[in-house]
Amino acid sequence: MFESAAPSPRIVSLVIPMFNEGEAVGVLFSRLDEVLPTITKYRFEVVCVNDGSTDDTLAMLSLLAESRDDLTVVDLSRNFGKEAALSAGLSTAIGDAVIPLDADLQDPPDVIAQLIEQWEEGFEVVLAKRGDRSSDTAAKRFTARSFYRVHNAVADVKIPDDVGDFRLMDRVVVNALNALPESRRFMKGLFAWVGFRSTTIEYRRDPRSAGTTKFNAWKLWNFALEGIASFSISPLKIWTYVGVAVAVFAMGYGAWIALRTLVWGADVPGYASLLVAILFLGGLQLVGIGMIGEYLGRAFIESKRRPAYLIREIRGASDVTDQAHDR
Ligand code: UDP
Ligand code: MG
Repeated sequence: MFESAAPSPRIVSLVIPMFNEGEAVGVLFSRLDEVLPTITKYRFEVVCVNDGSTDDTLAMLSLLAESRDDLTVVDLSRNFGKEAALSAGLSTAIGDAVIPLDADLQDPPDVIAQLIEQWEEGFEVVLAKRGDRSSDTAAKRFTARSFYRVHNAVADVKIPDDVGDFRLMDRVVVNALNALPESRRFMKGLFAWVGFRSTTIEYRRDPRSAGTTKFNAWKLWNFALEGIASFSISPLKIWTYVGVAVAVFAMGYGAWIALRTLVWGADVPGYASLLVAILFLGGLQLVGIGMIGEYLGRAFIESKRRPAYLIREIRGASDVTDQAHDR
């Protein structure tokens, strides 16, 4: 009576945020077409998120979507930034496992088989660590290292060194991420915050396949600030201690001046020390206010409860999707 249909293979989704990646799209898909067919145990779904590109990225994706039934194109209404684009992709992906990937092949698809292997071992998160960053400039390596060091010194949720967004996440992890309510999303931090059983594999990070990096120094600095401010309130609390330290010093110094005046009499000079004290404390107070501003601004924006991104259209929801809905 019942046909014993073979169980449909599990689905692995690749989520690829793209901002002006017109030059990289072709290389990316030809690489994927080399690698994915070698992994026969799973069906692959590729979710490309067009993050408000101003070049031909969307046109190229649309063209590809016509001939590929594994490609879903999520078109955002404007550029929302990589973190938001990634979130959009994660909530669209239907796979039993999801792997975020950069469009520029800096996260090599060759590693996907290894990630899946560890997933099969029962790990819910498989991190891909950049074992070799020699393709990055010395300045990038230094700033990245400093960021991890500072972040992990002040934040409660530690993020692993040299691990980017490239990783495999089981469906339970993706569901947990999708359920997080915040609209400002520092993904590296959120990935670490949700936890789950994880393991790490190493890979070599190659230079960008085509096009140029979308992150300049200013963007990276703000990215680092975002990471620290969203995962730690130590920069706020530190001012209590700075204040206490300065007050204790001031009391000691005051006592010393009083004593000195009583013993040796008044002495008028002191212009330099006065000026230094005023400027130093003024600067310190401004830094403190600036820190409060960083957090107040974030609380203000978050309190508006705007979504992290807006989707114009989802195109090419494929038969992979239908199959998942059937189950
Ligand atoms: N990206 C994005 N939106 C942005 C900036 C970047 O979707 O506003 C994507 C970009 O297309 C790429 C990935 O994020 O797929 C990583 O960007 P990039 O390679 O420029 O960063 P880098 O490797 O230089 O840190
Ligand atoms: Mg890159």
